[in-house]
Amino acid sequence: MNGIVYLTGAGPGDYRLLTLRGQEVLGRADVVIYDYLADPRLLEFAPPGAEKIYVGKKAADHTLSQDKIIDLLIAKAKEGKTVVRLKGGDPFVFGRGGEESRALHDAGLPFEIIPGVTSAIGAPAYAGIPVTDRTAASSFAVVTGHEDPTKGHSSIHWDKLATAVDTLIFLMGVHNLPSITKQLITYGRPASTPAALVRWGTKADQETLVATVGDIAEKAAACHFQAPAVFIVGDVVALRPSMQWFDTKPLFGLTIAVTRTHAQAPALTHRLEELGARCLEVPTIRITPPTDDYQALDEAIGRLASYDWVIFTSTNGVDAFFHRLQHHGRDSRALGRAKLAAIGSATAEALNRYGLRADVVPDAYCAEDLAAALEAHLSGKERILIPRAKEARPVLPDTLRRWGAVVDICQAYCTVAASENSETLTDLLTRRAVDVVTFTSSSAVQNFLALNQAPTDVLDDITIACIGPITARTCQEAGLKKIITAQTYTTAGLAECITDWRIQKS
Ligand code: SAH
Repeated sequence: MNGIVYLTGAGPGDYRLLTLRGQEVLGRADVVIYDYLADPRLLEFAPPGAEKIYVGKKAADHTLSQDKIIDLLIAKAKEGKTVVRLKGGDPFVFGRGGEESRALHDAGLPFEIIPGVTSAIGAPAYAGIPVTDRTAASSFAVVTGHEDPTKGHSSIHWDKLATAVDTLIFLMGVHNLPSITKQLITYGRPASTPAALVRWGTKADQETLVATVGDIAEKAAACHFQAPAVFIVGDVVALRPSMQWFDTKPLFGLTIAVTRTHAQAPALTHRLEELGARCLEVPTIRITPPTDDYQALDEAIGRLASYDWVIFTSTNGVDAFFHRLQHHGRDSRALGRAKLAAIGSATAEALNRYGLRADVVPDAYCAEDLAAALEAHLSGKERILIPRAKEARPVLPDTLRRWGAVVDICQAYCTVAASENSETLTDLLTRRAVDVVTFTSSSAVQNFLALNQAPTDVLDDITIACIGPITARTCQEAGLKKIITAQTYTTAGLAECITDWRIQKS
């Protein structure tokens, strides 16, 4: 049976501008065929086993010709595959979606079109330029700035176009800027009309150049303004100062490597992206089952009713514990009368997901603070269970035992280096593509350093942002230099610390 091809708009750059429909079809794709402009993070919406084929398409450097791309679409669909053809922006706005859908139609193969946010509107919007506005523009047109060189004559009616439409938006026009602006002026658009170029719109490296139709070509040449960019002509450009919102964010322009386990990264990444940063998630650790075995945890679960307290020191600990409890066919009720302590708000939230409220959560988030917060609740005769990572520090059980408590520690999970990411990490650091690296645990630091094959001096220029003093100390001991530390030991605190550092620096 034949498969199906989804010609899917990937949006202009910011991967979050993918449509829900696009995300849904990606989620069940067998094959993803994608272009140069699509953000690689879009591929993470596809199943891990999906075949991902890059077909390139920078102006001159066609990795695969258009005919070959069409052959590939047809071949994969004939194999019965669900094919997602990801295209930058919208597939029908200078995206050759027409040719591809026609070829599929002619071959008798099913296809669907999923529109996307076109860069023609998305890039100006992220630069604070509306394409229409009640005060400044009641029409807009999207025009190619790169006419087919094989055509002998222009298919653009410059004489009519130059003044007929309030806002003109040219795609693929950087190279031809001198001739485009010349045509506009020749056919009656005043040279004083505001004009802007927006490069890599909606992405962390977005750049905007504002000038007039008369001088933008010269100014762009002077600063070597490169493609890909959208060229916008019209009074709407003058609205930018009052509508800028993206490139004024506190972390705009910063590239931050977020080192966490895959499961934890999204919360921090999301926060940093909201502040305007570009985040590259580089998981340095992976959570695995305990290296010894589950014996200690299983025994503790067997006698759960005898504990007065169960203390959780990480969200991973919470998840690993309940996962094992469920493995034994039991649920939260097995905790019986035991009181619960959580090292911080994220761990308390993890308990919440299992329908439980922590009785004690300290204001600060280290083992020392947790011990101090527990002190008032303990008489010294309690039995306490701490399910946690193998590598954790001894300070918490030591302190509790000193106070007379009987403490059982059991390994609920392990953290191991995510060696599969060594190459990516080394490459990022060597290219100096990162401004800041975040660490949320000492084990992440150790694993990060173990994975990094780049010369150590590349780390001297990178700011190291730590979630708390223990992690910072591990960084210092490892010889890392530009260390900043969060005041509040949470992902929100870490984001705030990076923001303060950025503000001070500028
Ligand atoms: N189908 C795409 C356009 C493809 S043509 C869309 O709807 O957006 C490629 C041109 O789109 C580039 O030369 C550039 O002019 C523009 N473009 C695409 N992404 C862009 C971005 N993020 N910022 C600025 N221009 C972009």
